[in-house]
This record gives sequence, C-alpha cells and structure tokens, in this order.
Amino acid sequence: MERIVLGSRNRKKLQEMIALLGDLPVEFTDLTPYPQAPEVAETADSFLGNATLKATQLAQALKTWVIGEDSGLCVPALGGAPGIYSARYAGVHGDDEANNAKLLGAMAHLTGDQRAAYYVSTAVLANPQGEVVGYGEGRCHGFIATQRRGHGGFGYDPLFIVPAYGRTFGELPPEVKQRLSHRAEALKQLRPILEQCLSRK
Ligand code: IMP
Repeated sequence: MERIVLGSRNRKKLQEMIALLGDLPVEFTDLTPYPQAPEVAETADSFLGNATLKATQLAQALKTWVIGEDSGLCVPALGGAPGIYSARYAGVHGDDEANNAKLLGAMAHLTGDQRAAYYVSTAVLANPQGEVVGYGEGRCHGFIATQRRGHGGFGYDPLFIVPAYGRTFGELPPEVKQRLSHRAEALKQLRPILEQCLSRK
C-alpha cells in the first residue's frame, strides 16, 4: 500500500480527512490525479451503503486503495431528514447556502429539544480489487441554531451547535471539529485497520 485515494470531490471534507490521517506513512491524494474517475451514483439507502459504493467502484476503476466516505445531518424531529440526501437537500448537489436555508425553514416551528440533530460519517476502505477491507462510523450530536453563525467548516456547520461549547462548528476553530466530529470518530475506527494493512506491505 503506497497510496490511498480519498474518493471525494469535496475539498473541505478532504482537508479534514488529511488532517485526521495525514500522519500515517502513506501518500494520501484526492481524485485530482484521476480525471478518469467515474461519478459514483449514490443509490443506496444508507450511509454505509453509499460509502461502500464509492469505495468499491472507485477502487475497481482506479485499481488502487480507496477510502469512500458518506456523511450527512439527521434531524430526528424531521424524521431523520436530510439524512443521506444532505448534500442535495434543496435540489442542487453541494449548494450549502440553499441547503441551510431549506433546513432553517423546515425547522422554523421547532424549539428546544426538537432542534436536536446529529451528523453521521461512514468511511469504507476498499483494496485495489474493489473489496471492502474495513469501515468506521461516527456520530456527533448537537442542536440546530435559528440562524447561521460563523464561516468555518462547510455544509451545515454554521447551523450546528456543539453543546459542550455552545457555539457552532462554523464559529469554532478547526482543531475542535477535528477532535469531536463524526468524521474524526469514523476515521479513528478505521485507523487500526489502515495500520494493519500498512504493516503488511
Ligand atoms: P456526501 O459528500 O455525499 O457525503 O455529502 C455530505 C453532505 O452532508 C455535505 O454536502 C453536507 O451537506 C453534509 N455534511 C457532512 N459532513 C458535514 C460536516 O462535517 N459539516 C457540515 N455538513 C456536513
């Protein structure tokens, strides 16, 4: 194992993944060196299903190790929405501004504990044959603010209040998110599996 491809085109997500795993003795890259990488259709009905589709299809196509990650925000009072549809909640994939506006509108009538929410991240490691080698899943619990606060992070971060700090991930420094986030937990679970693969090389 010399190189691991992080199978995402979300630059902010990639920066977070590299900050969390970059100390391992392997080269991490995004999809930039692979313009031929296929667009993976996220057709599964779970985070694990979609992360598995991303990891296995990209690994097979690029013939390399891949970490596929799927993540999103779940609001129990909205029946778990936006959930696996988080990136395209308002219609256009990755339109954070529109997604946040839609979420604020959908939650306008909710108060107190009804504003509880959690992020989920599932990260799947696939080998160059496209087989799943392991996975990790993390959750991060908080509340949805009534208006945007801060410009840090990405996606729903300006709305996501971290209870221990009473501030949103948009307001908190990146080091705090790297310690507490759903992505940090998922990759922490994947780390020993990566270390085992690296020790076998
Ligand atoms: P994916 O790239 O298909 O996994 O979609 C992830 C989507 O979930 C993003 O576009 C965001 O809307 C949301 N999301 C996932 N993780 C985070 C996070 O750490 N902060 C804010 N939004 C997130």
